[in-house]
Amino acid sequence: MSLLENKDDVKELVDNLNFKEKVERSLMLIKEAYEKYGNGLVVANSLGKDSVCVWDLAKKVSREIRGFIVTTRFKPKETVQFMHETLAQYPEIKVYKNDAQIPEKLYETDPDKCCDILKVQPTRRAIDDMKVDCWITGLRCTEGRTRTDFGEVEERDEGLTKLNPILIWKEREVWQYLALYGVKVNPLYAEGYRSLGCWPCTNITTDENERAGRWIGTSKCGGECGIHTRPLKNVNGDGI
Ligand code: SF4
Repeated sequence: MSLLENKDDVKELVDNLNFKEKVERSLMLIKEAYEKYGNGLVVANSLGKDSVCVWDLAKKVSREIRGFIVTTRFKPKETVQFMHETLAQYPEIKVYKNDAQIPEKLYETDPDKCCDILKVQPTRRAIDDMKVDCWITGLRCTEGRTRTDFGEVEERDEGLTKLNPILIWKEREVWQYLALYGVKVNPLYAEGYRSLGCWPCTNITTDENERAGRWIGTSKCGGECGIHTRPLKNVNGDGI
């Protein structure tokens, strides 16, 4: 049976597979998806540690696999610099950004709307523009309270499959992979961040929860920007 159709218990896989088995499983998931979707398989790269890990895995499967980055006006300068370095190395990555006018400090007054406009809408545009049939993300089920119920393969939107090939990796295993294979990461991790987003909504914390530093002080604290929860295809209007 294809690994893309597996019904394995995700929580058991997190604890029962060792590092090497997880790497092999991730590579196999991407390989099978590439065989199935070809050029319609595209990696979403947020420039965080999980994304660069998944991007490196995808490049091991095929140099031809394309990617996209969704950036915003609020990305830290270190992330912007890292993005330019990444693009210089991988011209097959396209960048999407929404420069529409938005109310000042919308990230404080309505962060859900801010994320919808600045992150979800450009992600929809990327999926449409690049004719994506299956997108790959770096989502992991041990990252935080909002990430426990995802699958390695999701069919949330009609005509769009989502592959989360490192869903079962622990934070330590991501760093293990990046160190072993010499994958360059965003320098902000050296400052103590564990999860990176826009500067108004990203903090350093000592909390056990990996995503606890995101959207502190809002109802969204430790939560999601929406690209993993909102519809991304066949959406009328802005979908908000
Ligand atoms: S992370 Fe913050 S600044 Fe960035 S889009 Fe979301 S609410 Fe806006």
